[in-house]
Amino acid sequence: MKSPNIRTTLPGPKARKLIKQDKTYVSPSYTRYYPLVVEKAQGLWVNDVDGNRFLDFTSGIAVCATGHCHPRVVKAIKQQADLLLHMSGTDFYYMPQIVLATKLASLIKGKGGKKVYFGNSGAEAVEAAFKLARWHTQRELNIAFFGAFHGRTMGALSLTASKMIQKKHYNPLVPGITHIPYAYCYRCPYNLTYPKCKLGCVDWVEDTLFRTTIPPEEVAAIIVEPIQGEGGYVVPPPEFHKKLNKIAKKYGILYVVDEVQSGMGRTGKMFAMEHFNVNPDMIALAKGIASGMPLGALTARSDIMDWEAGSHASTFGGNPISCQAALATIELLEEGLMENAALQGNYLMNSLGELQNTFECMGDVRGIGLMVGVEFVEERKTKKPAREWRNEIIKRAFEKGLLLLGCGENSIRFCPALTVTSDEIDTCLSILEDVIKKVAG
Ligand code: PLP
Repeated sequence: MKSPNIRTTLPGPKARKLIKQDKTYVSPSYTRYYPLVVEKAQGLWVNDVDGNRFLDFTSGIAVCATGHCHPRVVKAIKQQADLLLHMSGTDFYYMPQIVLATKLASLIKGKGGKKVYFGNSGAEAVEAAFKLARWHTQRELNIAFFGAFHGRTMGALSLTASKMIQKKHYNPLVPGITHIPYAYCYRCPYNLTYPKCKLGCVDWVEDTLFRTTIPPEEVAAIIVEPIQGEGGYVVPPPEFHKKLNKIAKKYGILYVVDEVQSGMGRTGKMFAMEHFNVNPDMIALAKGIASGMPLGALTARSDIMDWEAGSHASTFGGNPISCQAALATIELLEEGLMENAALQGNYLMNSLGELQNTFECMGDVRGIGLMVGVEFVEERKTKKPAREWRNEIIKRAFEKGLLLLGCGENSIRFCPALTVTSDEIDTCLSILEDVIKKVAG
């Protein structure tokens, strides 16, 4: 069985040299949590430039859904590279974009036809949703959520409310957006308890927001993540989206769902919203859609995607190689990876649940499929966020050859490739246990 193999001090000599060069020439705006300089990767295993081997439970921020360099994805990329690298779907037609749009449209549940707009990233998919909602409804206002992350371009950033550093010095942003509390039941912003609360957070939208400050007939869209990602892997109660969507429908407001992180099989279903039994009006997709090739997509009901030629486009959006990588990815998801995500996700959740019995600092374990988060607290009773412990656990896990990422203020996310095996989960958890014991045991 494969295991992590750390042969040098970290960072090793080659990594140290490259990091020094990076500091001179690369933008300092990136958040690097630990000094990993990647050379190559396969499946869940990442090699750095000094020959150290790591087990990757980040999948490149929930992107490499089929594992690093899945042979079928690589083959599709190589075949397409021999045929056509670029022509621009903005001004010309080409087969991979049309075939992928047809496939994506067929995956979206709900009545009526669907259409797809292609961009290059999650932010671009959200940006397109934001603009299309205005175009279609001719309304100016939008509702988004505290804790939400929708990207960093000015429109998407205006919808984002995750960390202050993402917005600092960038004002004024796009006006007309109201952020409201998400159903973060572990720390209910209204101090209520589910299910006794009967989802008072949703009632508040109609009873307070729409009665006092926001005329609902001026709201174009509610933009929401099915499960909050960067905000802390926060899973809302089962009825949350249904109830909120009902209010949206009552006032002709579009329900726009950001599945950039939660979509493409990660939760064991193609789209996380399927767990909540809601058919959204639009879905923003990116990250896992093309196993690492840059691609963003916005799907919408055909009657909603009614903008005119020239109203929105992107030179590189829907690049033919990215589209072929997406088609290969979707095939793999449907052939068994989605099922594996559900199966191994359960195993991961149960195993983390067992660890939680040992460690007081694991305040909350939550997730669906392979979108799993653990919130670290100083003590269960006060729920005081243990941010330093969380950071130290991630750092020490790296030193032992396990790649993890944080999310929210004090959580760790587990978002491995959908190819993950139970042996790989066991390896991850044995390192995690060891590290937690040392940091906060
Ligand atoms: N939306 C969600 C839910 C995300 O998690 C992210 C990225 O983390 C984005 C949008 C932005 O995607 P990108 O970084 O590709 O622009």
